[in-house]
Amino acid sequence: MGLFSRGPQFCAVCKKELGHRHKPKREWNIKGRLCGDCHFEKSRDYYEGKVRQECAACKKVFKVTDLWEPRWQWDMDGLLCKGCFDAKEEEHGRRRSYCSSCGAKMGFVRYNPKPKWKMEGQLCRRCWDSKKAEMG
Ligand SMILES: [Zn+2]
Ligand SMILES: [Zn+2]
Ligand SMILES: [Zn+2]
Repeated sequence: MGLFSRGPQFCAVCKKELGHRHKPKREWNIKGRLCGDCHFEKSRDYYEGKVRQECAACKKVFKVTDLWEPRWQWDMDGLLCKGCFDAKEEEHGRRRSYCSSCGAKMGFVRYNPKPKWKMEGQLCRRCWDSKKAEMG
């Protein structure tokens, strides 16, 4: 008689006992293993765009295949729709090239605010100097 170290496993979707186990793709948000039928159906749903997910910014639901992964610099979870992705990218681009205090366009020379000023973005020389005088 064979000794089985593990008990039977069941499909995460239909709960059928598994013979051959299929690994779900990470994007499907499924824990566990799938039977052949469910795996086939899930991958078909996915490629036909039936798998939907909320955009992390506007909370509207989109096909997963239409969502974009945020850039790592944005430090956010989830996926973004094209509109929110573009808006984010623009916002970050703008934040990079304009003084976050007076809004003046900055050249290559920007100044990082001191952490204790609790400001986001970067500053032009003039604003940095006046912040420094004001906050130390
Ligand atoms: Zn199944
Ligand atoms: Zn969105
Ligand atoms: Zn400024």
